[in-house]
Amino acid sequence: MTRVPANPWPRYIGKFAVLAMPPWLTGRVTFAPALPRQRNQVPQRTPMGAVVKVLAFYERPYWRAEGVPLSEQVTVALEPHAFNPDHPLYIDSVFDVSPPGGPGVLASFLWNDNAFELMSKGEDEVRKAVLDTWAEFMACPEVATKAINFIAVDWPSQQWTGGSYTSYVSPGAWTSLREAYFKPCGRIHWAGTENSSSWPGFFEGAIVTGEAVSAELDKLLMADGGRKPGAIHPGDAWDLPRTHTERLMTGFNH
Ligand SMILES: Cc1cc2nc3c(=O)[nH]c(=O)nc-3n(C[C@H](O)[C@H](O)[C@H](O)COP(=O)(O)OP(=O)(O)OC[C@H]3O[C@@H](n4cnc5c(N)ncnc54)[C@H](O)[C@@H]3O)c2cc1C
Repeated sequence: MTRVPANPWPRYIGKFAVLAMPPWLTGRVTFAPALPRQRNQVPQRTPMGAVVKVLAFYERPYWRAEGVPLSEQVTVALEPHAFNPDHPLYIDSVFDVSPPGGPGVLASFLWNDNAFELMSKGEDEVRKAVLDTWAEFMACPEVATKAINFIAVDWPSQQWTGGSYTSYVSPGAWTSLREAYFKPCGRIHWAGTENSSSWPGFFEGAIVTGEAVSAELDKLLMADGGRKPGAIHPGDAWDLPRTHTERLMTGFNH
């Protein structure tokens, strides 16, 4: 029996639990009994990256040349200020992510110390620094002056994400913890993009592991009492009132 307590209620009880989250966040879950030693190390050796995503919105994409089809426009600019220690802001790319026929939208990423330093100055400073840098690089003054909205998505500050876009393994971790990284612990299974062998760190990777873990659990549930693959049976997972849950907890053992 696998019990997943949530705070506040409800609690869920099922035959299996799938944790579909970055490995480091699994370290913030309390397991009883404790996970095996190598798996217990996994969250400590898989930190999240540190990226802030910035987006600005315009009435129209001023930076595009009039009359030139989108397919012939430069939509991604690479490394305008990379390796330039004199430039106040390191931005290695700017993406034109405007929807067809819609408003103009630009996006960039701020990285590590550069992001931490700039974000500590407050949103107005971030906005000015980013828009000025884009405008200079794109040789388009409207980029600095005509933004109608600006958003900085501060992933490293998000408590339930911790950073972005994904996690990485610290030196030595992959060789010593690789097996524990993927292997289920009893009835606890792991999913989420970081667990994918293809496209880890992307939406595709998350989907791949979602499909893999559901196929795996279908097989296990079939073996464990028989059921039609894909069907949800009332006994697979259910939400119980507290008193009943508390009684079951005394016999809990995953
Ligand atoms: C800025 C940025 C840009 C990106 N751009 C792209 C892109 O262009 N293309 C692309 O393919 N991918 C992109 N990605 C990556 C993509 O977003 C992820 O790969 C994908 O969202 C991972 O999905 P997931 O289901 O594995 O995990 P997540 O989406 O991280 O879902 C995990 C969920 O678990 C929840 N959670 C955590 N802890 C607990 C807990 N204890 N209890 C309950 N719930 C919990 C979290 O709140 C979260 O909702 C980007 C990511 C970022 C941050």
